[in-house]
Amino acid sequence: MSQVDPHHHHLNSSPFFASTIQQIEDTGKLVNINSSILEILKQPRRIITVSFPVKMDNGESLVFTGYRVQHNQCLGPFKGGLRFHPSVYMGEVAALATLMTMKNSLLNLPLGGAKGGVAVDPNLLTESEKEKLTRRFTREMAPFIGHDKDIPAPDVGTDSQTMAWMMDTYSLDYGFSQTGVVTGKPVEVGGSKGRDAATGLGVVFIMDKVLEATGRSINSASVAIQGFGKVGMHAALEAYKLGAKVIAVSDVSGAIFNGDGLNIPEVIAYNKVNKSLKSYPEAEAINNEELLSLDVDLLAPCALEGVINMDNVNDIKAKVIVEGANGPVTHDADLVLHERGVIIVPDILANGGGVVVSYFEWVQDIVWLFWAEDEVRTKLKAIMDQCFDKVWETSQKNNQSLRTSAMANALLRLEKAMTLRGQAS
Ligand code: GLU
Repeated sequence: MSQVDPHHHHLNSSPFFASTIQQIEDTGKLVNINSSILEILKQPRRIITVSFPVKMDNGESLVFTGYRVQHNQCLGPFKGGLRFHPSVYMGEVAALATLMTMKNSLLNLPLGGAKGGVAVDPNLLTESEKEKLTRRFTREMAPFIGHDKDIPAPDVGTDSQTMAWMMDTYSLDYGFSQTGVVTGKPVEVGGSKGRDAATGLGVVFIMDKVLEATGRSINSASVAIQGFGKVGMHAALEAYKLGAKVIAVSDVSGAIFNGDGLNIPEVIAYNKVNKSLKSYPEAEAINNEELLSLDVDLLAPCALEGVINMDNVNDIKAKVIVEGANGPVTHDADLVLHERGVIIVPDILANGGGVVVSYFEWVQDIVWLFWAEDEVRTKLKAIMDQCFDKVWETSQKNNQSLRTSAMANALLRLEKAMTLRGQAS
């Protein structure tokens, strides 16, 4: 039992954090995880909150709030993304950090789990304001990050440019180049080939596996993808390349639909020019809710958490859901869908491709030996396929959901390591 827990009340007022912990607790009890170990995993190891001013282009100073939650480092240095989004708050970052611990454990990586965030709408900042904000946040975090401590990476609202600024700021203060402090960098400054597409590509490797396991094939399967950012766009493209009929994609402006399948390379070219999917000519405009309720073989929510919830769960018609985003299906909606026989591949498995290639990048930065793109792809596929098979087998054997099976596998590995380190009682 925990004695004093200053964060508990605060974090638990976040439904996302509370349901993430509930899931750990339920699965932990199901597979008999040592109770002290479960107690440790129910709380983040360290929470860092910072407030810092940034001088905007008009000369005015604005104060921003940022977080880094370092959940667990039993398996290796803390690792996880950094998010810039207006609705970032501590409970969300803590939930995402907890999921990173589970993801890295499940994927068998030598990494712990963390997540960061700044409450800001990056679309309202100019490029120079974004750079200043990133550099200032990095300085605030500098004592807590490092290639052997905690390694941030891109997440919602951040990208390879953000990581280049972070690496540069950290290195300037350090006195020497420290490329391994963040991953998801451009290849010119120590990034890995294939990192940009990695999460989306991993999502598609998993789509392929789950469709095969359920007696279908990705070739000509109908697919709807919510989100057209780093994850959704690459997932759409890779699925299209494997012959899937991607009938709908969406961004913040809404969704586009074409029952015969969208020409994804053309959609990408259109989006590049117009910075939005809005008014794409070869499709019908629908809204995000309509996209989520399409009658498709496979639905991949690749944007934010909580988009499939008790308000719309009865409208969901997809047979299979692959979670490209972190936490897109709420806990109660998940139970309803499972009951209805919908197969859901959980986030910690489905979107693990990003952190797998981040791991490859980190290794390459440490040894200064860089890999060819097909080597990255082959190694990524091997890990994703093997991990899917392990989770699928567990779910078949125990007649339980893929989410429970994934979480069980993650917890069992953590339990072994934490016991060896003397944390069990
Ligand atoms: N933000 C990504 C995730 O949620 C990637 C994390 C990383 O590469 O460290 O998995």
